[in-house]
Amino acid sequence: MTIGFIGLGIMGRPMAKNLIKAGYQLAVYDKFAKFDDLTALGAAGGSSNRDIAAKSDVIITMLPNSPHVKEAVLGQEGVIESIKPGTILVDMSSIAPAASQEVGAALKEKGVAFLDAPVSGGEPKAIDGTLAIMVGGDKAVFEKVKPILEKMGSSVILVGDVGSGNVTKLANQIIVALNIAAVSEAFVLATKAGVNPQAVFDAIKGGLAGSTVMNAKVPMILDGNFKPGFRIELHIKDLQNALDTAHNLGAPIPLTASVMETLQGLKTDGYGQNDHSAIVRFYEKLAGVEVRK
Ligand code: NAD
Repeated sequence: MTIGFIGLGIMGRPMAKNLIKAGYQLAVYDKFAKFDDLTALGAAGGSSNRDIAAKSDVIITMLPNSPHVKEAVLGQEGVIESIKPGTILVDMSSIAPAASQEVGAALKEKGVAFLDAPVSGGEPKAIDGTLAIMVGGDKAVFEKVKPILEKMGSSVILVGDVGSGNVTKLANQIIVALNIAAVSEAFVLATKAGVNPQAVFDAIKGGLAGSTVMNAKVPMILDGNFKPGFRIELHIKDLQNALDTAHNLGAPIPLTASVMETLQGLKTDGYGQNDHSAIVRFYEKLAGVEVRK
């Protein structure tokens, strides 16, 4: 069995490496990034998305957003031009649920099964193979590829039909963005009041306000370390997908809309490539203080 892996960026590259380490035969391709390191490890290199599809029994895509997935799968020189019936395509990118459903429907006409399987955990967990993977699609198809997904993640959960994986990811991204904003607002207040933010963190992290987000992001904020991690521009992409999806469904998400404007302001100020913990900079600017050790 050959697994085609398309999209070898921050996340896709270490995920592909983990599959090679687990003993799978891979065929790899990225439209813009080089992949000599992966061919050196034994993967076959491809010349296009179409070429990868012709060589593969299972295809994994890990691309930035909906237009990239649509181009790579449905576009010119795309996967759909040469994919064999019976192949399974697993898209692990974080994209709009409606785009997942569109790609899944087009592939179904070719006799190809599709799962949307976005991830949470970022680069460190992609490297460790401990991502949280949330999957949408048919249960029988899910069971077939689950052993492959388990080489990249420590939690692999089927949440519903095609598109459900990305709905779950949008929920995850809303909660993370709002949590960072709440932590930022609170720590700016404490700092402006003259209370040591490190002491505030130590005092509240074990209580009800504590969170994985607080534990990961407050130490970065206290160090003034905004190196990504997860870039503000990617979070804008996810919240835009959340807002579009919510508005189409008739489910207003006012807190998300508010944090989206905060992220837009940060992007305008030149912080788009910062880690999303830089949300604190927005509140620091309003109050005229910095939350640092
Ligand atoms: P990235 O930009 O580093 O990698 C994407 C890769 O896709 C690039 O190498 C690019 O050259 C390639 N690509 C773009 N269009 C292509 C095409 N048409 N055909 C072939 N290759 C193409 O992005 P990333 O950080 O690896 O993120 C990938 C996805 O995972 C995104 O949807 C992101 O939101 C999600 N994600 C990222 C993180 C993170 O911390 N970086 C965490 C969880 C989820």
